[in-house]
Amino acid sequence: MNAPVSIKTSTHLRGALSVIGIHKVFGEGAAALPVLEDINLAIRPGEFVAIVGASGCGKSTLLRLLAGLDTQFEGVLLHDGEPLKGTSTQRGLVFQDHRLLPWLTVRQNIDLALLNAGLDTTSRQQRIAASVEQVGLTPFIDAWPHQLSGGMAQRAAIARALAARPQVLLLDEPLGALDALTRLKLQQELRRLWQEEAITMVMVTHDIEEALYLADRVIVLDARPGRIRKEVPVDLPHPRNRNAANFVALRD
Ligand code: ADP
Ligand code: MG
Repeated sequence: MNAPVSIKTSTHLRGALSVIGIHKVFGEGAAALPVLEDINLAIRPGEFVAIVGASGCGKSTLLRLLAGLDTQFEGVLLHDGEPLKGTSTQRGLVFQDHRLLPWLTVRQNIDLALLNAGLDTTSRQQRIAASVEQVGLTPFIDAWPHQLSGGMAQRAAIARALAARPQVLLLDEPLGALDALTRLKLQQELRRLWQEEAITMVMVTHDIEEALYLADRVIVLDARPGRIRKEVPVDLPHPRNRNAANFVALRD
């Protein structure tokens, strides 16, 4: 008889994030700037959460905390029940600007990210080929960043984040700098990737329609200091039906 599968190691249940009583202040004394106040969130494994809110309300700060890039905060952050300690290949990150290193090709950029995951050369090359294929960039695997359009560079950045097979993908306005048509195309691709990978997605966006199209749940942050104003579950099955019904819920 096979040993029972432990809940902890089951891949279906990986990628949960818990945000418990988070306060974040930049600076000290008279210069102290409270940015996040009493943020509580339970993100389920495989959930797609969008975070929206005005410029400066703390969206990127919250995402940086979840990534483990910023460890100065009050409260508790858990990844699958374990305290989050710094960055991890289990949590991939994509920013608005692709942040590819200009002196490395797409392949080399992804390879560099994979070195941190401690993989041998053969597995790295396999992972690179697979992730580039996933985002439709195979013909450009040996291209330099300056040879790529904005959309292609963002695809490369997404491939780099996916190559380490993270449980969670954190996206900070990943499509914000793209033209409308490219953005639509990449929205569809993100959705497809999310369905294929059963990955937890946390995406910051300015664009409420984008949030409603992609996410299971939209978190609205208020500014000064950032607090959760409301959470809107997006439960209509067809994305096109989501906008009208949920826009109203998000508006006030
Ligand atoms: P958003 O992504 O929602 O536009 P941010 O999280 O980038 O907002 O910023 C929230 C607030 O925190 C802003 O007022 C910003 O100026 C401030 N802030 C962000 N990063 C820093 C930092 N490293 N030092 C001081 N203040 C910061
Ligand atoms: Mg931001």
